[in-house]
Amino acid sequence: MSDGLAHAGWSEALRDGRLLGRTCDDCGTTQGTPKAACPDCGSRALETVELPTEGVVYTETTVNVPPEGIEERGYRVGIVEVGDARILGRLGGGPSIGDEVTLSGYVEDEQGYAVPRFEPA
Ligand SMILES: [Zn+2]
Repeated sequence: MSDGLAHAGWSEALRDGRLLGRTCDDCGTTQGTPKAACPDCGSRALETVELPTEGVVYTETTVNVPPEGIEERGYRVGIVEVGDARILGRLGGGPSIGDEVTLSGYVEDEQGYAVPRFEPA
């Protein structure tokens, strides 16, 4: 499966409110992003798993976009730890690092893929 096809399926699941990850059969790493191969060991023996929709903020930062951007001028993104995986998403409601958050929806990115949105639990 190519990264593009994997990403499309991952986006579809997210629009249904589900977070999918992929666990590597060879090294046991779980990825929160749709990759065709394991970034740790290069294995293609990846199994799709369902990830929890609640997690903890691992990093967060504010992205400043021009006023004519899709949303408000600045928005926050962060990496959220859900289960064994880490997922990049939008952060609503101003959570800080270490705060518990829950999946609250998604936004569409420029490529037409869904990006998860998290808010404080
Ligand atoms: Zn691996």
